[in-house]
Amino acid sequence: METYLNSLLRVTNLTKRFVAGSDPVVDRASFTVDPHEILAILGPSGCGKTTTLRLIAGFERVDQGSIQLKGKTLGCPYTHIAPEKRGIGFVFQDYALFPHLNVLKNVMFGLRHLDRKTREKQAMDMLELIGMKDYAHRFPHELSGGQQQRVALARTLAPKPEIILLDEPFSNLDAVLRQSTRDEVRSILKKANMSAILVTHDQEEALSIADRIAVMHEGRIVQVGTPEEVYYQPRTEFVANFLGKTNLFPASASGLEASTQIGHLMLNRPATGDVVVSIRPEHLTLEKFFPGCAGTCGKVLTREFKGHDITYRIQLQNCHCLVHTDNRMPFVIGDDVIVKPLEPAVVLDDNHPNKHKEE
Ligand code: ATP
Repeated sequence: METYLNSLLRVTNLTKRFVAGSDPVVDRASFTVDPHEILAILGPSGCGKTTTLRLIAGFERVDQGSIQLKGKTLGCPYTHIAPEKRGIGFVFQDYALFPHLNVLKNVMFGLRHLDRKTREKQAMDMLELIGMKDYAHRFPHELSGGQQQRVALARTLAPKPEIILLDEPFSNLDAVLRQSTRDEVRSILKKANMSAILVTHDQEEALSIADRIAVMHEGRIVQVGTPEEVYYQPRTEFVANFLGKTNLFPASASGLEASTQIGHLMLNRPATGDVVVSIRPEHLTLEKFFPGCAGTCGKVLTREFKGHDITYRIQLQNCHCLVHTDNRMPFVIGDDVIVKPLEPAVVLDDNHPNKHKEE
């Protein structure tokens, strides 16, 4: 409760419909952002991520629910503070740099209320922070995509907003640049002690850049947690599948144990009766089969060697499962193996519809 009260940004039951009478695009979304925290909103295309960000920025009006920054209401059905008065910075997907202004002038743009000398000093400080002081007099077309991204970030940070919002900030970059740029952006945000919300549909991006992740599905925030929590302790089938590959099994649970198609599993929390459990492929391993050995036996159906690791698909009695091992595992297609769990399976809420209706 304490962190909730101390939150910098508090979004409560946020709801938005673009067409009266239709399903809401954002549906009772609730989450908080703490000071200096990077929150990623992660979800598939069309689930309402950008609309959520635009509501927080003030580009859209709130139908129901509220948005509060430092306890002050910015948006609710009766209040709409103009975007430029919210103290919120927005980094657009296409960076939106002014092509006719050099890097320094682009960054100075957000500081128009200050005298020229102070503007220039603050903009240069910002360029130093992003490691681009030497590029001050270059024009946007003379920069790489990653450099443009950093300038856009510097321009947003320069007026010292309370929080910044980044909409799919790495989507214009190729795979290699994406990774290095996201490391840089995270380190710049941390150096600037800045709070941020970043929207992405890329689970790896969210897991690597965010302090916490809010997983969004069909307009609703279905789970909020640290990257480790949402990855290792998904609460629903959707979260389990969206955050990476997983094995889902119907299970008959009794306390902290359950029987499943891959045998007896320990559970991450107590449950009773019919449940669905998730166990990630890297939380299973394989051992050599020999007659009379204990455990669930299966046959190697496929083997995907990926250099530093291997993914096996194993045929069990009535189903398949994926097992992710290191590259020293010797089994090949057709081998008889024993599948063994390394970690407890995660009990999902899908069979308990009343348990977690609200975030
Ligand atoms: P993506 O990752 O593809 O950008 P998203 O999760 O950000 O998707 P939104 O852009 O928020 O999703 O859109 C959610 C839904 O709302 C979509 O079905 C979209 O077509 C619809 N939508 C967004 N803006 C408007 C608008 N101004 N008028 C009508 N419908 C809209």
